[in-house]
Amino acid sequence: MSQLTRTHFETLDQDDSLAPMRNEFSLQDGLIYLDGNSLGVLPKATAAHISEVIQQQWGVDLIRSWNCHQWMQKPTELGDKVGHLVGAEAGQMLVCDTTSINIFKLAAAAVKMRPGRTKLITETGNFATDLYLLQGLAKLLGYQVQVVALPRHEVLDAIDDDTALVLLTHVHFKTGAMWDMSTVTELAQQKGALMMWDLSHSVGAMPIALDKVNADLAVGCTYKYLNGGPGSPAFVYVAKRHLSQFEQPLTGWLGHAKPFAFEDDYQGAAGIQQAMCGTPPVLANAALEVALDVMLTVDMHQVRRKSKHMGNLFIELIQQRCPWFEVGSPVSDEQRGSHVSIIHNQGYAIIQALIERNIVGDFRAPDNLRFGFTPLYLKYVDLWDTVDALVDIMTNELWNQPKFLTQNAVT
Ligand SMILES: *Cc1c(COP(=O)(O)O)cnc(C)c1O
Repeated sequence: MSQLTRTHFETLDQDDSLAPMRNEFSLQDGLIYLDGNSLGVLPKATAAHISEVIQQQWGVDLIRSWNCHQWMQKPTELGDKVGHLVGAEAGQMLVCDTTSINIFKLAAAAVKMRPGRTKLITETGNFATDLYLLQGLAKLLGYQVQVVALPRHEVLDAIDDDTALVLLTHVHFKTGAMWDMSTVTELAQQKGALMMWDLSHSVGAMPIALDKVNADLAVGCTYKYLNGGPGSPAFVYVAKRHLSQFEQPLTGWLGHAKPFAFEDDYQGAAGIQQAMCGTPPVLANAALEVALDVMLTVDMHQVRRKSKHMGNLFIELIQQRCPWFEVGSPVSDEQRGSHVSIIHNQGYAIIQALIERNIVGDFRAPDNLRFGFTPLYLKYVDLWDTVDALVDIMTNELWNQPKFLTQNAVT
């Protein structure tokens, strides 16, 4: 490989057909933001829309807005918009609650759809909430159900005739390693298990084809690559073929067939509507809608191409210029999502030193420095400048200062 230069990256920016998308986002001058995989950037159109929803819809139209501004339809409308991004035909997705809550709802429904089976399989080192929610569900169900969390290479072998559900995160939150959705789904289904995908770290970063890979269930966040805003509601997907047997345990009034009949007995709504529990977060939905509309203007294949290219270049720069780090992500872009982790035991302090220079990545214990590549608003030259700053911080041990070594609550 020839030695890369800053000029090389400047040229790539000039030729980048996605470059104009950066104008759709509100980014401080001088900021290099490599954390869009954790909290996406604010779309420029969001503030005006939220302000309109607050001042007119809430401020003036008040309770009439549930009907005249379709507040009640937003969970399904937004669900279908997410569906466009993840290859799901309309009527199988809903935007509601958090990813954590949705994992519980769908995992519980899965256990009901596979009576007599006692295993829930996932991988060790999966995102903590995914593990905890399965553990909580198993505890609630008593001895019938156990969680089997295994190292990645053992997961597929463990799926057997006693497995009710396999829950995996498509792109691993630390390493960026990506599962082949199609192969894994087929394998789980061959054993009679249901397959649930957590798309939190892949939705908005690459094309996904939920219907085509024959996924059973899926969940994911909207505040990461989708830019829905801090704490924006999550999504659920239940494949059409399962909707008639789908019964989730959080039987709130808005999942009822006739919520405004206020009957004493619960009777689940038909279809995906039954995944609803309570009142939707109207302001959060408004912010998410703007962000989804931005995302729906771009071709996900093009986004993925730029994301792979950026990941490859970043790894190449680290290998050429940064002997202090080991690359903790798959080097092959076919097996990697849209972020790259590099490993160092002083990772926390190094990230803090970068943040002080207005270059924002993040740290995931014990030793992962994580850099997310969001093709809609990141420039190629940002990669060069980030690695250049890393070289300075490492060569001159600039991370080794008390102010960088004390850990904050959120890393
Ligand atoms: C970010 C993330 C979550 C977060 O869940 P919340 O309920 O929104 O806190 C869950 N799972 C995975 C895999 C994630 O990456």
